[in-house]
Amino acid sequence: DFALFHAKQTGRGRVELYAPEHEDQIRRTAIVEQSLKSADLEEELHLVFQPVVDARNLQLIGFEVLVRWRSSHLGDVMPGEFIPVAERCGTIHAITRVVLRRALSEMQNWPEGLRLKVNLSIYDLSSSSQMLALLTIIERSGVSGQQLTFEITESAFSDQLDIILSALNMLRAIGSSIAIDDFGTGYSSLSSLHHFRPDLIKIDRSFVVRVSDPYDGRDMIKTIIQMCRNLGARSLAEGVENETQCRVLSDLGCDELQGYWLSRPVSAEKAREFAHAGVVKAEPQALGQSS
Ligand code: C2E
Ligand code: MG
Ligand code: MG
Ligand code: MG
Repeated sequence: DFALFHAKQTGRGRVELYAPEHEDQIRRTAIVEQSLKSADLEEELHLVFQPVVDARNLQLIGFEVLVRWRSSHLGDVMPGEFIPVAERCGTIHAITRVVLRRALSEMQNWPEGLRLKVNLSIYDLSSSSQMLALLTIIERSGVSGQQLTFEITESAFSDQLDIILSALNMLRAIGSSIAIDDFGTGYSSLSSLHHFRPDLIKIDRSFVVRVSDPYDGRDMIKTIIQMCRNLGARSLAEGVENETQCRVLSDLGCDELQGYWLSRPVSAEKAREFAHAGVVKAEPQALGQSS
């Protein structure tokens, strides 16, 4: 993909095919790639942790770790921008290793029983040497694989299905759970369920924002939650931004909730405080009792 962009960018005459804002985009991507390749990842990457709660009582279940990059050249770059670039230029493997190693080390500061959710790239799963490296990191950390959930985005799998499935089986073999991230946004939602048999389905934010729409929004999410149950998977709603969404999702039997209304992603220090408190919001009464 990137190679093609680059060839077009430098190839004389062809650059005229692009609107100016598209050219800026290409230039920005090239700069991000260069900065990423020369970055001191140990120094420039940071982790934040977003709480995940039980939908029935808002008790803390664990955290999803999300990476942040403070580039010495570019300043803060969000993962939505640099992860796709890292996947194209191969830096993703090193990034995943740093994130996993540090997050596992941070987990040692939490009380027993809290789970960690880690995003994996399809490029991690399709590399056997990377999988070996990740399994080694887990083993050396002393954290039980049972406390870990690995999130994969459904859109990106394709011709390497067998390899990806065997990588997922390695993670299952150490007791870890598999989650489908951003469910409903890919082109292959249903076939991904069939292939991956996830333990958890993370329902995309785009469904959650429509949850209080009584016509299609509420029915849609209700159907998805029911489907998760039929498949024997837990359901998690992503991007819960207000109390109404929280209440409706809880009433519909969604298992886990995550979103700004509960908590934004927080520093490791703040996550420790949440971990010891066992809750993220000081709510006087549990949701289920209010309706
Ligand atoms: P994701 O895994 O689906 O993560 C959820 C994203 O939604 C996060 O953005 C989070 O900050 C944001 N979010 C959470 N609650 C809310 C909410 O209530 N409202 C809104 N509007 N947004 C909310 P972030 O941290 O920018 O990450 C974006 C994506 O980058 C992630 O989506 C994931 O695909 C990728 N990513 C992040 N960290 C990593 C990582 O360590 N490894 C890999 N491979 N990908 C990562
Ligand atoms: Mg995720
Ligand atoms: Mg997601
Ligand atoms: Mg996402």
